[in-house]
Amino acid sequence: LQAEIVTIGTELLLGEIVDTNAAWIAQRLATIGLNHYYTTTVGDNLARITEVLRHALARSEVVITTGGLGPTVDDVTREAVAAATERPLVLDESLLEEIACFFARRQAPMTENNRKQACLPQGARVIHNPVGTAPAFAVEHQGHVVISLPGVPHEMKHLMETEVIPYLRERFGLHSVIKSRVLRTCGIGESVIDSKIADLMRLTNPTVGTAAHPGQTDVRITAKAESLEEALALIAPVEAELRARLGDYVYGVDQESLSDVVSRLLAQGGLRLALADMATQGELAQWLAGSAQSAIAFAGATVLSGILSLRVTLDLDEALLAQYGCPSQPVADAAAQAARRLHGADLGLALIGPEDPSAPDAPPVYCSLATAHGVIAAPPRRGRSGPAGRGWLMHLALDLVRRHLLGLPIG
Ligand code: ATP
Ligand code: MG
Repeated sequence: LQAEIVTIGTELLLGEIVDTNAAWIAQRLATIGLNHYYTTTVGDNLARITEVLRHALARSEVVITTGGLGPTVDDVTREAVAAATERPLVLDESLLEEIACFFARRQAPMTENNRKQACLPQGARVIHNPVGTAPAFAVEHQGHVVISLPGVPHEMKHLMETEVIPYLRERFGLHSVIKSRVLRTCGIGESVIDSKIADLMRLTNPTVGTAAHPGQTDVRITAKAESLEEALALIAPVEAELRARLGDYVYGVDQESLSDVVSRLLAQGGLRLALADMATQGELAQWLAGSAQSAIAFAGATVLSGILSLRVTLDLDEALLAQYGCPSQPVADAAAQAARRLHGADLGLALIGPEDPSAPDAPPVYCSLATAHGVIAAPPRRGRSGPAGRGWLMHLALDLVRRHLLGLPIG
């Protein structure tokens, strides 16, 4: 049994939009244990879509399409499905009624071309779309099925979750569940993790795998079972063993980012954090501001550029700057204290680095955290330029805060 995905839209081929539908559907298919071997992207062209669908239906039991269901002339998916499954398009009166009601409710005029959306390949099963006008449908053809969904991602996702997944489970007897648990780590490299858990990475159910990202590494545990409970039971002992080996390098699970975790810990402790940032061009502030509890936990940020900004904005002592230079540990410590004071925060975090961290002789980046009881620092690290370099520094900085808040060892 195999499924394939056909995403339809010339703007996808032109690279004007990224095909997020295919990635999302692929992940959902994996969770119900449906094999997926092909994804095809095709433009808004009737002949080419028809050809792609013929191939897809010949080799795959399940074909899922997205896009091209709208009312305009370049939306030709329903015509292509009709052609590929050798049947005429017919007007569905009750669907027409439904579309008319949708427009009436919104007090918007219904145009003649919206009638087109009520035309479906003969014998198609309607998949009602409560979140948009484009109705979706499924057509059975020689024991295989093509399911056509709208291109708009939130409509597609809604219909997949509420209609398509339950239908596929039922129709093909897919009762297995694939469940993943992700342990998120920072402060430890992928190769070190690898050496600590190599034996676990040879397990077959659940499987264990790692994925490195800038500043953090994910350890994913994936189980396949007949029910969610069974999958969770397979995952639990392996998760416990991984946690025992990785210890406090694990900062969160699943979707949780380090900034979510730090914001939550700050909010729980009734603490607010301020930043003095001379290493990520404000990206660290944006990251914190984007996390769930940031309104409570985030006091503000001073984004610094050049040594003059340390004096003018943070009012750092000229003699200190002259004595140690920038970047340096004493300057980072003073910047952390200044940020704390300036923003009236409980904690002040400073990330002070050179202008070009990737220059061959560049000094390291210094990271300090000022608290009510003094200043603590992370070990200075060589920085790297670009988004990955900033990602790496942001994790270094927030992990210092996390370790302080949880009373864990630093460095
Ligand atoms: P509509 O009724 O809105 O026209 P439709 O089924 O005709 O729906 P399209 O016109 O193909 O869908 O796409 C509508 C919008 O949905 C696109 O402009 C694009 O923003 C988004 N979209 C379409 N396909 C994809 C895709 N594969 N990945 C991500 N976004 C997509
Ligand atoms: Mg459209």
